[in-house]
Amino acid sequence: MPERYGPYGGAFVPETLVPALAELERVWKEARRDPAFRRELSRLSTTLGGRPTPLYFASRLTRRAGGAEIWLKREDLVHGGAHKFNNALGQGLLAQRMGKPRLIAETGAGQHGVATAMIGAALGLRTEVYMGEVDIDRQKPNVDRMRLLGARVIPVKSGTRTLKDAINAALRDWIANVRTTHYLIGSAVGPHPFPSIVTDFQSVIGRELRRQAVRAFGRLPDLAVACVGGGSNALGTFHPLRKTSVELLGVEAGGPAGSTGAGSLSYGRPGILHGALSYVLQDADGQVSETESISAGLDYPGVGPEHAWFRDSGRVRYTAVHDQDALRAFHWLAVDEGILPALESSHALFAAVTEARRRPKEQHIVVTLSGRGDKDLGVVLGATR
Ligand SMILES: *Cc1c(COP(=O)(O)O)cnc(C)c1O
Repeated sequence: MPERYGPYGGAFVPETLVPALAELERVWKEARRDPAFRRELSRLSTTLGGRPTPLYFASRLTRRAGGAEIWLKREDLVHGGAHKFNNALGQGLLAQRMGKPRLIAETGAGQHGVATAMIGAALGLRTEVYMGEVDIDRQKPNVDRMRLLGARVIPVKSGTRTLKDAINAALRDWIANVRTTHYLIGSAVGPHPFPSIVTDFQSVIGRELRRQAVRAFGRLPDLAVACVGGGSNALGTFHPLRKTSVELLGVEAGGPAGSTGAGSLSYGRPGILHGALSYVLQDADGQVSETESISAGLDYPGVGPEHAWFRDSGRVRYTAVHDQDALRAFHWLAVDEGILPALESSHALFAAVTEARRRPKEQHIVVTLSGRGDKDLGVVLGATR
């Protein structure tokens, strides 16, 4: 039965997909309990992925903010340059376990496509990646990477030619090829069981963070901050902390000043998108709105259903950060700490600095640095010029 997060989640899909979703859930639940699967996941996370990622004290950024200590969970150091690897590896191993020789994926910033292409190569699975034409133009280096890693990149020309259209195209492909193909969804979205599976594989972030915080400063942080596109790096951070007293802050893309950007939780309302009920940016007639953000990875009108539930229950607070402020935070981290952050992560950084300013020096804030900024240099230089 579809698992629900409060009223959210579910599996609103064509009948042809129901058996595939049921098989996926069964295999995932078996795999979680199988010590051999867990050993293999752990071995490849370490030896291919570079885990565990460090928890870094950003001392000069802390001094700039002049309040609470700011610490970074360094997912930018994972193989491929973002947290996407954690999920791609886990689902790649599930595809192998189901005997499916082909992976398909959708990608916005290109980071998930690269992670899937890497895993497809490492596990010997044929890989095809759907990507909106607009994103292909603004994320060219990642398109080149995918191709060099042996994946086929399929341009999507429909709709706004961004992530949501790429997801639609991937879903259509999956319906047609479900016996041989695993759809490796890149965020905690889509029909059940995908949101639960993605959150499970990303929860390594929060589990490591918990351990590392206690080792580094003797207790859990006061606040954890992460950016929210579909919501996977944030849920990976928040899910293992949800039953603690740690305050949780999710940061959406506010787009250009004065717009609603891609803030589904900040500006949207409940609706069904890509097979699940969650918050969706939509107009008065329920048509999905066009989103706008400087970061392709946050440019998505929906959000994972667990976030919708966290929002309504009040367990997580959500805010939106505008393009210009994300850019400011990008430059702060570059010159203060020698780290070029992904523009997605820069949204979380700006919110974290804002919070740090208001809090006493005794408090600790951990920001999940979801990825590195090499892919965004063109956008950043274009915006600063
Ligand atoms: C894809 C991406 C995101 C947004 O995806 P979530 O599923 O919300 O985590 C954030 N940061 C980076 C670096 C990304 O590549």
